[in-house]
Amino acid sequence: MRIDIITCLPKMFDSFFGQSILKRAQDKKLVEIVVHDLREYSDYNHRQVDDYAYGGGAGMVLMIEPIDNCITHLKKERNYDEVIYMSPDGERFNQKMANRLSLHKNLIILCGHYKGVDERVRETLVTQEISIGDYVLSGGEIPAAVVCDALIRLLPGVLSDETSALTDSFQDDLLAPPVYTRPAEFKGLKVPDILLSGNDKEIDKWRGEKALERTKIRRPELYDKLKHDLRD
Ligand code: SAH
Repeated sequence: MRIDIITCLPKMFDSFFGQSILKRAQDKKLVEIVVHDLREYSDYNHRQVDDYAYGGGAGMVLMIEPIDNCITHLKKERNYDEVIYMSPDGERFNQKMANRLSLHKNLIILCGHYKGVDERVRETLVTQEISIGDYVLSGGEIPAAVVCDALIRLLPGVLSDETSALTDSFQDDLLAPPVYTRPAEFKGLKVPDILLSGNDKEIDKWRGEKALERTKIRRPELYDKLKHDLRD
């Protein structure tokens, strides 16, 4: 998979992608992430990428030309499955979307800034708009990193134990069961005996029960949906 990120703050991505799982995924060539500095696609003086909003009001707007230049350049090199714009009024991001996106080959992710991008970018260049939640951040860089992380860890070979992503919360609409590690006892707090028993079948059963219990308590609407789906 290849992900091209378009941003006016390219350095913000250095730490996200330079460590841990996301770094290893790139080292192993399971994903290629290319960050593009929007300013390099500006034909204006001083590499300008934003301007005042027509009609007045506070806040700058990212102009269409540099964004169009960058996307046109990228599209000449390869076909893209989606051109995603990170936006608080986009479709709310969730695990199902991450699963779906992780199956694509080439993605462009556009990060907005200031007041956002010129509406004509959204009308003509963008194919999908994603929000990471009902709150407003100052730029699309953190949202883009969130989306990249969620889908890269699903790519085969990225996690050392490939089944690991499948047992995470929200796969199958279930929250993950509790996990423990050494020591088996800490200040009188004991790890449940079953997890120390070595009985894989019983451990699976226990985890299934705990996942259901946790979902019922913390996310009753997911639990109801699950019950409903099982009945169908
Ligand atoms: N004026 C816009 C917000 C702009 S915030 C509005 O009210 O909708 C600046 C940029 O940050 C946006 O263009 C977008 O790329 C990004 N951003 C902010 N909050 C976000 C969120 N919850 N999800 C995804 N992107 C977000």
